[in-house]
Amino acid sequence: MRPLAYDQLFIGGRWRKPATGQRISVISPHSEEPIGETPYAAPEDVDLAVRSARAAFDDGPWPRMSVADRMAKIEKLAALYSEHTDEMADLITAEMGSPRSFSRLGQAAGAVAQMHLGLATAREFPWVERRPGLFGEVHIRRAPVGVVGAIVPWNVPQFLIMPKMVPALIAGCTVVVKPAPETPLDAMWLAEMLDEIDLPEGVISIVPGGRDTGEALVRHPGVDKISFTGSSATGRHIAALCGEQLKRVSLELGGKSAAIILDDADIERTVQHLKTASLMNNGQACVAQTRILVSGRRHDAVVDALADMMTGLRVGDPTDESTDIGPLVAQRQQQRVQGYIASGTAEGARMVLGGTDKPHERGWYVRPTLFADATNEMRIAREEIFGPVLTVLKYADEGDAVRIANDSDYGLAGSVWTSDVAHGLRIAEQVRTGTYGINMYTLDTTAPFGGFKQSGIGREFGTEGLSEYVELQTTVSAQKLPDLT
Ligand code: NAD
Repeated sequence: MRPLAYDQLFIGGRWRKPATGQRISVISPHSEEPIGETPYAAPEDVDLAVRSARAAFDDGPWPRMSVADRMAKIEKLAALYSEHTDEMADLITAEMGSPRSFSRLGQAAGAVAQMHLGLATAREFPWVERRPGLFGEVHIRRAPVGVVGAIVPWNVPQFLIMPKMVPALIAGCTVVVKPAPETPLDAMWLAEMLDEIDLPEGVISIVPGGRDTGEALVRHPGVDKISFTGSSATGRHIAALCGEQLKRVSLELGGKSAAIILDDADIERTVQHLKTASLMNNGQACVAQTRILVSGRRHDAVVDALADMMTGLRVGDPTDESTDIGPLVAQRQQQRVQGYIASGTAEGARMVLGGTDKPHERGWYVRPTLFADATNEMRIAREEIFGPVLTVLKYADEGDAVRIANDSDYGLAGSVWTSDVAHGLRIAEQVRTGTYGINMYTLDTTAPFGGFKQSGIGREFGTEGLSEYVELQTTVSAQKLPDLT
């Protein structure tokens, strides 16, 4: 493992002494022992990072360079990063407990893939275009939005930094990244790589810290845009703060996604897919399919199949290749999930397996838990649990299934399971979520991703994701516009 103690912050592309002596100690969720530490970025550090980013945007070379030159820097970063993906995955596993099998693919390799996809999108992006207008041709330019504050949570830390930082940098923005206090080590390692690719001064800063660090970034008048991923509660608060300054904001928030299992679905295959779609990353995934909707006719068969699958899950050391479910990120999260399990029983759902007792003496583990005979009014059906807890709900007919799926404050993801794909597509069109799966649920990071309703505003990935980091500038001319190419 790499050295895990950092004494300096990466601000404006330079390693600097932090403003205060405050530290973040990262505790292994498996062993409950410290595994590393970093400085905690105070509001003063954020201020320095933003002022540096502001100066770099207003007067520095970065926004004035060609897109191709900026892309060359990201290509260099992707090449450097690719040499270390497994090591990065292991570091993330150590920090937050993601099973190694998920970390390798979903965390670190996913981050590299996003750099490449970001570059591919930028190659095809209409940075400048001409359209016929009322008085002749109109020149339309996509200009960088300015100084971007990127705030991310701990659950897929590198995978979430990339769809903000990469398009923002390619567009010509300068960026201040605020990682979560649970996962500052992977972010500091990214800072080391960013240092190596040698961006102009001020272009990038990484300021790990908590709520006050993030809020200092959101409130800072030098920031033009906030791109936030996290809970809907925090997102609402951040949107209100941005509203005061008419700051641009995009929000990727929580979910409570419904998997509708139709009567013609193959139960075994469906349940095998749900093992990942519902429980990936120890259930700590915004898109987890946690409400399982089944007709009365197949309810018991589906519950039995889910119970069999969940009984077979290996819960334990996340560094073990055969582990399915590792520990939750923090004791606070363990207690929160145990609270939801207790509330399910208290509200009258039937616990088929699982429970609030700890499966291991040490570590912030939770038993995979399955509830049946639940209603959509219960907290376990309405609120995002963020742990390995699934809730089965019975529907009367297909219309009722769609109604229950839509009866949620969230609208992030969903899925339908059926042997008739055309029918599945018709169901997809009735469900109000930003992404949907037919007989699978996986993110396609070439296509727009984001939420309806309380799950967010804006989109990440693909052309739409890059569009979040540009402002449209329209120029008309009294004379015929020259060809600039
Ligand atoms: P959170 O909202 O508590 O924290 C997220 C980030 O915001 C952290 O970096 C945190 O330090 C920071 N923060 C907290 N309060 C802040 C404030 N007042 N101002 C500025 N920054 C602040 O979320 P969490 O519990 O750490 O993460 C899990 C949540 O993230 C879940 O709801 C999950 O669904 C969501 N999530 C969404 C997506 C998506 O793409 N839609 C992806 C992953 C996670």
